[in-house]
Amino acid sequence: MAISLEQIKKNYAGFDDYKIEYLAKNEINSLDPDVVVILKDEIKKRGLDSNLNKGIEAQTKELTDSDLQELKSKISNLACPECGQKGSPLIGTLIREVKSFVLLTHYKKTQLILCQTCADKKRKKQ
Ligand SMILES: [Zn+2]
Repeated sequence: MAISLEQIKKNYAGFDDYKIEYLAKNEINSLDPDVVVILKDEIKKRGLDSNLNKGIEAQTKELTDSDLQELKSKISNLACPECGQKGSPLIGTLIREVKSFVLLTHYKKTQLILCQTCADKKRKKQ
């Protein structure tokens, strides 16, 4: 069962500063974009280190199309890190897990780069 954003906001408001800082520094990539907004608001509201929000922005910054094309061409011809095969071009895939705890829903998104075969295998394992 998904927890509403309103509930997440309440949860975050109840966290200690160190927990908020921890989330900002280590968990940004596993948070939903909507939740990142809540976290940033909470940091602002508490007047925590403004570098935290800068750090969040750096971590969530979108790549430009040309950045992306360059990265893609560098990566797609490498061997698959999962099976070591070089036969098929690598793809990027996103595997989403949602874990609900009593107080907190944790969205875990794992970004993987691997070949199509391995990507399919990973999804089936879920
Ligand atoms: Zn593979």
